[in-house]
Amino acid sequence: MLGNMMFQPLLISSMIEHAGRYHADSLVISKNTDLSITETTWGQIHDNSKRFAQVLQSFGFVLGDRVATIAWNNHRHLESWYAISGSGLVCHTINPRLFPEQLVFIINDAADKVLLFDKTFLPLIKAVKPLLKSVEHYICLDAPDDAVREAIPDVLFYDELIAGHSAQFTWPVIDELSASSLCYTSGTTGNPKGVLYSHRSTVLHSYAISMPDSLNISARDVMMPVVPMFHVNAWGTPYAAAMAGCTLVLPGPGLDGASLVGLIDRYKVSVALGVPTIWQGLINAAQQSGSQLTSLSRNVVGGSACPPAMLKAFKDQFNCETIHAWGMTETSPLGSANQFKAKHMGLSDEEKLQVRLSQGRPPFGVDLRITDEENGTHEVSRDGETTGNLQIKGHWIIKNYFAKENSALTSDGWFDTGDIATLNEDGYLKISDRSKDLIKSGGEWISSVYLENLAMGHPKIAMAAVIAAEHEKWDERPILIAIKKPDVDLNESEIFDFYADKVAKWQIPDKVIFVESIPLSGTGKMLKKDLREQFGKVLLST
Ligand code: ADP
Repeated sequence: MLGNMMFQPLLISSMIEHAGRYHADSLVISKNTDLSITETTWGQIHDNSKRFAQVLQSFGFVLGDRVATIAWNNHRHLESWYAISGSGLVCHTINPRLFPEQLVFIINDAADKVLLFDKTFLPLIKAVKPLLKSVEHYICLDAPDDAVREAIPDVLFYDELIAGHSAQFTWPVIDELSASSLCYTSGTTGNPKGVLYSHRSTVLHSYAISMPDSLNISARDVMMPVVPMFHVNAWGTPYAAAMAGCTLVLPGPGLDGASLVGLIDRYKVSVALGVPTIWQGLINAAQQSGSQLTSLSRNVVGGSACPPAMLKAFKDQFNCETIHAWGMTETSPLGSANQFKAKHMGLSDEEKLQVRLSQGRPPFGVDLRITDEENGTHEVSRDGETTGNLQIKGHWIIKNYFAKENSALTSDGWFDTGDIATLNEDGYLKISDRSKDLIKSGGEWISSVYLENLAMGHPKIAMAAVIAAEHEKWDERPILIAIKKPDVDLNESEIFDFYADKVAKWQIPDKVIFVESIPLSGTGKMLKKDLREQFGKVLLST
């Protein structure tokens, strides 16, 4: 017997409709590409998304056709997101920092029909346009502009297009399993592959990230996703923000510390999200300007491991609770978030810090396990010590990659993440490394993340990466690539001494190389593959 309750498909359009109806006057503040600031509301975002949905309909596409965006976090980008998915098309967000060849590859692979872009990316669009096979319409997310028209004669302008339509529009009711958005993995460890989310997976993920033990989002929050909308849909926050009706601050292209401090203080941001490299810049800028970041009650760190020194700095200097979270493109992305359980509340500050350093536990809706083999099915003990291959399953986890027939899952239906980790009896996850970044020294594994975190705690180091260098005797040995803080004296032996009482002797890096900069991926992660190519042979005698 079936239950007697209504069935309504879980659709992205219902989230923006909710925000437009019940939170119409909540602000959406965004920094434009020319660095001016626009203040709009959820009501206006909803209206404009309905206008743009009609523009898209007028092109005569079929359900599931792809519309690409190359844009920063701003209000037009947000409106277009809801218009695209809401009208049954697929919103393909593209990372503008990809190499042009990769960009061309993914636009052709996705067969995008429309390309929306911020004016600032005009040179890039102009350069790749002759190589794009499927794009029928180029739309600049701005008011009409002669320079843009000169570079791309058939270009259309977003502001002009939406001005031609009214906000009277009814969102189509489609199957909740329909595709809604497409994100390519940023290719830190290989070629980009497409992950195709559905309306259902997106709505369920939005509920999950909003819960108190995840990001705890309410209508009273002022949320700033520093993580770009092209990085796993800004971790789902623009959807969750509409669901909660909170104020949203979109930082546009200004991702440097000083710009972010300015926005946090001016708009009283209560929760912000980003990768560790962003936070490092923010801490330095706040220290320099003397800002106490008073409004910021919590920040979410994910994408790479959060160094303990960063967690401490946020807590001790800015009274800000850091939520350490783990996820990946294939997992929408939230797989775990770190919040205490009741039993942790009586712990000492130091014991609490130890709990908070882990990547946290899964929200309801996903399940984690550790197996003893990559893509294996045999689970190891949840004892907080036994490391193995992290696997995940749940409502918002990938099944197969875009346009690939074969399953991406193990024989019993789990997704193997490529991360090496432990789980404890409470489900707290500790990532020790990516399997490709682990260092195999004489048959023993050394975690690069662990050594990096220690180095980041050194008072004279600004940034650190540990990679495997080839070694004649031990196969691989760790080496440390480090950027010194400005105007400090630091040499290799000081670092060896620093490690001496912190790790076993055989884990201390064999060599320290000081550099001016470390290559970062488009999403702000250290490109260890590039570092291995550059420095991977420094320990070999020939
Ligand atoms: P990319 O492949 O470009 O890095 P993703 O953004 O999907 O693309 O990265 C997901 C990976 O990032 C995870 O598999 C994991 O290795 C790493 N990661 C994400 N969050 C954390 C975290 N909190 N701690 C350690 N590693 C993390």
